[in-house]
Amino acid sequence: MEKKINFIDQEYIEKLLEESKITDYKEIDRILDKASNKEGLTHKEVASLLQIKDENQKKRLYEIAGELKKSIYGNRIVVFAPLYVSDYCVNNCTYCGYKRDNKFPRKKLTREQIQNEVKLLEKMGHKRLALELGEDPVNVPIDYVLEAIDAVYTTKFENGSIRRINVNIAATTVENYKKLKDAEIGTYILFQETYHKPTYERVHPKSLKGDYEYHLTAFNRAMEGGIDDVGAGVLFGLADYKYEIIALMMHNEYLEKHYGVGFHTISVPRIKKAEGMSLDEYPHQIDDDTFRNIVAIIRLAVPFTGMILSTRETAELRRELIKYGISQISAGSSADVGGYTDREEGKTQTQFELADHRTPLEVLKELLDQDCIPSYCTACYRMGRTGDRFMQLAKSGNIQNVCSPNALLTLMEYAMDYGDLELTEKVEKVIAREIENIKREDIKILTLEKLEKIKNGERDLY
Ligand code: SAM
Repeated sequence: MEKKINFIDQEYIEKLLEESKITDYKEIDRILDKASNKEGLTHKEVASLLQIKDENQKKRLYEIAGELKKSIYGNRIVVFAPLYVSDYCVNNCTYCGYKRDNKFPRKKLTREQIQNEVKLLEKMGHKRLALELGEDPVNVPIDYVLEAIDAVYTTKFENGSIRRINVNIAATTVENYKKLKDAEIGTYILFQETYHKPTYERVHPKSLKGDYEYHLTAFNRAMEGGIDDVGAGVLFGLADYKYEIIALMMHNEYLEKHYGVGFHTISVPRIKKAEGMSLDEYPHQIDDDTFRNIVAIIRLAVPFTGMILSTRETAELRRELIKYGISQISAGSSADVGGYTDREEGKTQTQFELADHRTPLEVLKELLDQDCIPSYCTACYRMGRTGDRFMQLAKSGNIQNVCSPNALLTLMEYAMDYGDLELTEKVEKVIAREIENIKREDIKILTLEKLEKIKNGERDLY
């Protein structure tokens, strides 16, 4: 029997929310100053910052978010795609199209079908995937997940390879997390959905997922199982966003204190229309302004934690949020089991509605026009730079000497293997500019040599 721990104290957060309402102008200034030094913020400071109202201070919040983003991540944007392998689900999450009350023929992909999907993803240039499936211990037990991971990693391609699989599956046991670790997953991703326990229990009625404490302590078990890169998230729209952000920060602090490292990434999904639910039932949905605010505040609070935005959001908003803190985006996504294979035939049974339907090639062109460097780099994870080793590198500022050159190498690979003329021209321009920005001469020379090798057919250099 797992020990029950709940480090999210509802009464405490509600009191803090009340108290923070009287945060004065000077205190917000102090917090903004602290954040601008890349020091990160405590959950109490975040509670105060959530009260920001003054237009000048808001302007400063965005400026600092932009500066932190630039100085820590440069202009790199990591690109990935989700891979849905099964929509079997025993849960009844009120908001989800895959809930068990929705009656439709459920699917789980065979090894061959998974490899077909992966081949289509590879053709789009993807190197990083997020494996997604519903929870069903009978139809899709952990062995199915492990086989799916193996199917992905062993798919044979003409050009590339899938180099990193992040896994987003339901909360499970230490033993199963050990198995995922042995299967060489990248980040283990699990959204808390909501930290507000009464809401959590209401939106997850009569189901395995309905055990708040078990879900909340999943990362404890993941860390005990040896996974040190964990990715958190809140499904915005279920409960008061201020409550969620404070709790999210408390969760991060708890992991830092007990395991020496907090979240590797934070995802910021907003609730979207899905089959069998109406958005009218969710009064806590947030508008674009609030969403922008949230992204900027998270960037200030945990400057070294990656932030992920999916194609649930429109191209316009994604463009803007990249400036304030988003460091990873999905592209060309399908939230449908077998969706990449089905796409051409126009068949879908999607988990929720998506808003950005552009191909990765289109997304990459736009990123390049925005002076961003799309990156398919997976080097850190493959060099064993995970957990606190990654965080130390990020905090030392040395990441610039590692990530920027690696991003350029994967971009050159993309241009060679998947680009058209227009993209290749853009890539060459960006690479010429970025090479000049590499400060260390030895790294500059090494990167130029590797770029040449890629042009001559070598791959996967980092
Ligand atoms: N089954 C896994 C679990 O229980 O954690 C996770 C996989 S699920 C495929 C991924 C995420 O999709 C969920 O954690 C949830 O936050 C999100 N999701 C579900 N319904 C959604 C909706 N209507 N709008 C936006 N995101 C949704």
